[in-house]
Amino acid sequence: MSGHVPSINYVVKHCEQDVLVLEAVYNKLRRLDGCHPNVQVFYGKPDGCPRCGSEHLESKGYRATQLYVYQKFFCKACKSYVRSTKPTLMGPRVTKR
Ligand SMILES: [Zn+2]
Repeated sequence: MSGHVPSINYVVKHCEQDVLVLEAVYNKLRRLDGCHPNVQVFYGKPDGCPRCGSEHLESKGYRATQLYVYQKFFCKACKSYVRSTKPTLMGPRVTKR
């Protein structure tokens, strides 16, 4: 069986198909991963989506943390919500005690 060319070709063909399917599944699911690595570093697009690198972002208001307010965006490519890395000019959030 070792070196059987038709068998090797069969395995190679199915491995290539598995890789393509797995890549498509990864591209769909990565928007749900809260700990996904920032792909802006890989693509060199500082203003792009941190999950897919697309620059098709739509402003969707603001997101407040306990200390700051950030601008929130919706990525039209991967359909995920992301926020800016720097706080807005609105400054630290004021909370009542
Ligand atoms: Zn995206």
